[in-house]
Amino acid sequence: MKDNVIHLVRKNIANLQPYQSARRIGGNGSIWLNANECPISSLFTTNITSFNRYPESQPKNLISSYANYVHLPSDQVLATRGADEGIELLIKAFCNPGNDAIVCCPPTYDMYALNASILNVQVKEIPIFKNTWKIDLKNIQYNLNKVKLIYICNPNNPTGNIISKENIISLLNMTFGSAIVVIDEAYIEFSYKDSMVNYLKCYPHLIILRTLSKAFALAGLRCGFTLANKEIIDILNRIISPYPISTIVADIAVQSLSKDGIKKMQSRVLTLNLNRDWLIRELEKISVVKKIFNSHANYVLVSFHMHKKIFQKLWEKGIILRNQDHKIHLKKCLRISIGSYSECVRLIQEIKILSDI
Ligand SMILES: *Cc1c(COP(=O)(O)O)cnc(C)c1O
Repeated sequence: MKDNVIHLVRKNIANLQPYQSARRIGGNGSIWLNANECPISSLFTTNITSFNRYPESQPKNLISSYANYVHLPSDQVLATRGADEGIELLIKAFCNPGNDAIVCCPPTYDMYALNASILNVQVKEIPIFKNTWKIDLKNIQYNLNKVKLIYICNPNNPTGNIISKENIISLLNMTFGSAIVVIDEAYIEFSYKDSMVNYLKCYPHLIILRTLSKAFALAGLRCGFTLANKEIIDILNRIISPYPISTIVADIAVQSLSKDGIKKMQSRVLTLNLNRDWLIRELEKISVVKKIFNSHANYVLVSFHMHKKIFQKLWEKGIILRNQDHKIHLKKCLRISIGSYSECVRLIQEIKILSDI
């Protein structure tokens, strides 16, 4: 029975490795430090009581709230089902299957390559330089043939570094008229001065991805944004599903983008950045820690002596980290999301115990 349908699946899908999301990997944790979520939730209520009508395709109130937050006109903002939907829409809009290519710069967020593979678009992987984490501009330039989209994650997940504005501008100048540069700013609130939003007016081929999942602490809501020039937003509006943002999502997202909501987000960012700096100072004192990479986001990449044992023993104690050992340049590395202060304290205690035995 099964064999009668499985052979119908597209070839590039049949062998596809699905995204190893934190939820898929599982674990029985009490301290979750593996998905870069915020440790503490704000509480929301809604006055919406009826759901018989479809929502607006692009809820005006939501679009204007986000436009206001990023100081852009509303026609430069698209709301999506998480930033992840934006990643996919762009490939659908720009890349011819079986012909065009994207560039991504590993180690980085896996969803760029995965979405391209699903859509049968070639992935050109141009790794960042080891330890400095700079993008390899020359190599990107040599490989631009057939490339329509270049995905840059800034701050980069999982390394935590910032790609300098000069480097991004060089990339924009190099690709003018031939490819689009997509800057994934999922974590930019933790280092907001490094945003490229102000450059949208200079570069028609710049696109920025944003989300409410990280600094806004709304990963469960599924709401993200694509920022670009009007012409690109118009194209994306043609291909996005008719009702991507549910009534409830729009209502709560608008609340989170109120003056008060933004203030709360900013104070959360300050707290998490302080927790991160404390965690890094404490990790520096522990002998089993090999190297801590500087971070501008709500996670930190750390290489360990005995990384497997550390990961496993913490897992058994309900502290769930993200193993990055399988990725290029990241041998023995674990990524630690920044939790609440008490979670950071617990983590340090447990690593110290493991370090001593
Ligand atoms: C978490 C994350 C996303 C996904 O954001 P959603 O809005 O939850 O889909 C996108 N890009 C990067 C780099 C991320 O880490």
